[in-house]
Amino acid sequence: MRVVFLDRDGVINEDRDDYVKNLDELKIFSYTPAAIKKLNEAGFEVHVISNQQGVAKRLVSEDDLMAMEREIRRQVESVGGKVSSFSYCRHFAADKCDCRKPNPGMILAKAGERGIDLHESYMIGDSEKDIIAGRRAGCKTILVTSGLFTEDDIARFENQPDYIACDLAQAADHIVQSVSISS
Ligand SMILES: [Mg+2]
Ligand SMILES: [Zn+2]
Repeated sequence: MRVVFLDRDGVINEDRDDYVKNLDELKIFSYTPAAIKKLNEAGFEVHVISNQQGVAKRLVSEDDLMAMEREIRRQVESVGGKVSSFSYCRHFAADKCDCRKPNPGMILAKAGERGIDLHESYMIGDSEKDIIAGRRAGCKTILVTSGLFTEDDIARFENQPDYIACDLAQAADHIVQSVSISS
């Protein structure tokens, strides 16, 4: 099975400097539901892989995290798409856990559960941590510029992605085209 792993903040919804803390602050990009549906139709399951240090810092409650997850699912399902799962790292960066990206723990755990072909899968994110985690897991990597990082920031990333897209919609188009060329 092929999967597209998605970072949440900056990819599915607008990011903000002080954490996306509740439903009021969750601004889902207008193209997100259709882009996820397009990936599903091309044969990809979509799984969200998200660092949520705001939970450890008690800036984001578990209830608010789940309310945001339900809203993303609701919007995606309203166009006929599906997000198969959401994985979160709820630890502090200082906890040195295996799950917090750039570690690939959440991706590898999902792959073990589901029999996922990681080499045919993609990680899409807006930060260098996402790219490193995806690469360590053996996935293809796509960086989107819809997050908080500027083009200049991205040019300085030591770890460059396989592809750069302006947003999730363009990333999905790229993946679907790649699949149709190779098959
Ligand atoms: Mg992000
Ligand atoms: Zn963690």
